Amino acid sequence: MKNALTVDLEDWYHICDVEGCSDPRNWDSYESRVIRNTEKVLTLLRRYKTKATFFVLGYIASREPELILEIKSEGHEIATHGFYHRRIFELTDQEFGDDVARSVDVISSITNERVIGFRAPEWSIRKVTPWALGTLRKLGIIYDSSMVPLTGMGERDFPFYPCIFNTEYGEIWEFPLTTTRFFRENLPFSGGLPLRMFPYFYVISKLNRINREKRPAMVYIHPWEFDMEQPEIDLPLSRKFMHYFNIKATPGKIEGLLRHLSFAPIREVLGLNG
Ligand SMILES: [Zn+2]
Repeated sequence: MKNALTVDLEDWYHICDVEGCSDPRNWDSYESRVIRNTEKVLTLLRRYKTKATFFVLGYIASREPELILEIKSEGHEIATHGFYHRRIFELTDQEFGDDVARSVDVISSITNERVIGFRAPEWSIRKVTPWALGTLRKLGIIYDSSMVPLTGMGERDFPFYPCIFNTEYGEIWEFPLTTTRFFRENLPFSGGLPLRMFPYFYVISKLNRINREKRPAMVYIHPWEFDMEQPEIDLPLSRKFMHYFNIKATPGKIEGLLRHLSFAPIREVLGLNG
C-alpha cells in the first residue's frame, strides 16, 4: 500500500494572518532559507529512494526556478500551493482563481509540465468557499488536497479518504488530510504539530491500521521543520506552540516513516499518471 508523501514548499516566514510577515510586500526583507532547508528534505528522500508531491508556492518558484527544476529532476511531482500563501476563505472566488492561475503559470513555465494538484495554505477550504473546487477544476487542476475533516481547522463532515467531487467544470479528486477517530472527534496526526507531539509508535500504528484497511494515508512536511536555527517570529502563544513546539522531532519521525512505510506522490497514489 502506497501512502502519499507531501511537502508544502514555502519559507520559514510564510505564516498566514500575522502582522508583517503575511504581507508579500515585506517578504524581500526576510532571509531566504528555503534552498538549504529543501536540500535537507531532498537528501532524506534520496536516501530512502522515495518520491513525493511538492506543493510549491508560486512566489518561491518565481524566485528559485533552479530549485524547482532540481526537485523535478529527482522525480518528484510539482504541484501548487498558490502564489502568495493566502487562505481561501479570505478571498473571493475571483481573487482565489487569479492567485492559483498565477502560480500555475509560473510553475508550468519552469517545469514545462501541467500542474494538476493543489493544496490550500493552512488547509483553508471551507463550506463558505463552495466555489473553490470548481475554480480549481476550471484552471486544469485534477486533484485538491486541502480538506481536513475537523471542526475548526476544516469542516467536520469533509471526507476521510480520497474521493471524487463533481463541479460544473468536471470531476475533481480530493485527497483529504489523514485523521483518526478520537472519542467523538477526529484527530490529525500525520504532519505538523500533531506529528511532533504524538509518540512515534502511536503515529505508525495508526498509519499501519489505515493501510491494513487498504486505504492510503497522507503525510505532510514543511522544509522549515528541518531548520532548527530559523529566526523565530513573534506569534501569539497558541500559534507559537503550533508552529515551533518540538520542531526538532520532525526529521527523525519522518525518517522513521520513510523506513517503515511505502510512499509515492499523490498523482501516483490516485492513479493519475499520464
Ligand atoms: Zn503553507
